[in-house]
Parts: sequence; structure tokens; C-alpha cells
Amino acid sequence: MNDHTPAAVLAAEAGSSALAATASAPLTTAEIEALYELPLMDLLYRAASVHRANFDANEVQRSALLSVKTGGCGENCGYCSQSAHHEGETPRESLLSVDQVVAAATAAKEQGASRFCMGAAWRGPKDSDLVKVAEMVSAVKALGLETCVTLGMLKDGQAEALKEAGLDYYNHNLDTSAEHYTNIVTTHKQTDRVETLGRVREAGLKVCSGGIVGMGESRRDRAALIAQLAAMEPPPESVPINHLTPIPGTPLENAPPLDPFEFVRTIAAARIAMPKSFVRLSAGRQNMSEELQAMCFFAGANSIFYGENLLTTENADAERDQALFAKLQLRAI
Ligand code: SF4
Repeated sequence: MNDHTPAAVLAAEAGSSALAATASAPLTTAEIEALYELPLMDLLYRAASVHRANFDANEVQRSALLSVKTGGCGENCGYCSQSAHHEGETPRESLLSVDQVVAAATAAKEQGASRFCMGAAWRGPKDSDLVKVAEMVSAVKALGLETCVTLGMLKDGQAEALKEAGLDYYNHNLDTSAEHYTNIVTTHKQTDRVETLGRVREAGLKVCSGGIVGMGESRRDRAALIAQLAAMEPPPESVPINHLTPIPGTPLENAPPLDPFEFVRTIAAARIAMPKSFVRLSAGRQNMSEELQAMCFFAGANSIFYGENLLTTENADAERDQALFAKLQLRAI
């Protein structure tokens, strides 16, 4: 089989044996920027080749997402409607009961989800909260679903407790480049997030980590984010690429819209840089045409959030997704 590691693919294009010699090295920010600069058709061809060498290109994994505790978060992430710092804060809801979570997970499974993600708006969980979330994880796992939680920053021992409860994945996004991060959040640093991801890995959990584009960042910032994710050892198993959904009352409500082809380029660059990761088309999908989504799947996206709600923003509804999968003859896994 041809070598489709990121550097080998670049080398093939450049005709360079020097790059092939370092085929296992993660792509640098400059190399990823070079991918962005390619003619779109060349970039898509390259990304689709990498995709096909590592996955069945007609299969898409589906995850469902439930907000188990909404609003009232002390952090000030500029894109988020759950921050207590923003005027547009979502109405607060306290932690759901295990029964409520099990009912939602059962419905998600019936709709075809294979993984159930539970999100709580916290800077990080208190140990007492973690006990309750661990119960939810065990109950969802018992339904035969893969489990994922996103709870903010973790302290020592918390990742291990979640692993013990049956957790498969922990989601914690790097959000944007280290350079752009302070323009988006000031109540914590990106390095705090990196630290939590280290704890997650040490506990033996799988990592789900990606970012959000369309937050006023430059192309270099997008490339730097992908390079940072790809340089993790190993890279995250799951890489959500979110398109900002500007929410009224948040600091990013008037962020300039990103060109849809730049979004497709970002998916393609992530696919090439992380050949073995699931690249997830995440928030913002409800505003994308079927054609744009299809282009993203061709560019290497092979996972979606599925169902009616994506934390607090609307998601494309399940029926619309099923119709699109049928038209594209995509199989859900
Ligand atoms: S930590 Fe999470 S819930 Fe809190 S403001 Fe940031 S993104 Fe929103």
C-alpha cells in the first residue's frame, strides 16, 4: 500500500525524498499552511487519498450530545453562551438526574448514535459532581454505547475515577492557536487545557480534542491549531472541527463569517495532518448546505454530532441527516 502519512503525502507532491525520510514526523504549522495554499482540487484529492488509505470513505461515525448541566459557568470563553460573564447566557439548569440522562441516551441509540457525549458547563468538576457524572457514565455504558464527557479542567485523580466508571473518551478542545487563545478566553490559559489532556491520557482514556474556526483567527492560527493537535503523542483519536455559531450576547456575536471553502480546507488539512483520527464535523453543521457537508465528507470528515441539540445550539435534525446519508450512500457506524 502507498505511504499516506502526512509527510509522505507532501513528499510525493513535492517529489522530495527528504520529506519521505521523516515520514512519521508530525506536520509543522508551515507545512500545514502550505497545504492550505494548494489549489482546492489538489488539496481535496490529497485529503481524500489519505482518508481512503486509513478509513472506509463511505462510513461516518455518529455521536449524540447532551448538556447535563447548563449555564452559569465562571469561565469567559468568547464563543460560549453558557458563560456567566456574557449577556446572552443560556438559562441555567442544574445537573440532570441519571434517569434523565439514560432516557436521552436510549433515544440517541435508537436514532443510530454509537457514542453518547455528556457536557457540563463548569471550569472543572467538584469531586461531589464527579461522583454523579460517574454514575451517568456507568449507566450509559451499560446501554452498549461508547461514552464521552466534557466537564472542563480536571484535577489529579478525576480522570482515573471517570475511567473506572467506564468512560471511553474525554473531550477538551484546544479551541484555537496558542497565539489567538488570549483573544478568546482570559479566565484560563490554553496550557491549562493541555495539562488536562495530559491527565486524560495518563488515565488511559481516549482523547477528543479539536477547535473552533471562524473566531476572527488567521489562516496561520488555523494551521497552528492543527499542528498542535497533530503533535500530541498520540494525536487525539477524535478531532472535532467546529464552525463558530455566533450567539447574540456573546463577545463573538459579530465575528466575520468564514468562507465555506476555507472551512473545507481546514477539514482537509486536519485529515492529512491526522490520518488515523476521526475528524468530526461538529457545531455549525446546521447552517451548512448538503453540498457543503458532502464536500467536507469528501475532504475527510468521518464523524458528526447527531440528534436535535448540540449543547445549546441547534443541530441539523436527525431526519435531515438520515436523508443526506441516504442520498450520499453513507453508512453510519
Ligand atoms: S469552560 Fe466550557 S462551558 Fe464554560 S464558558 Fe468555556 S466553553 Fe463555555
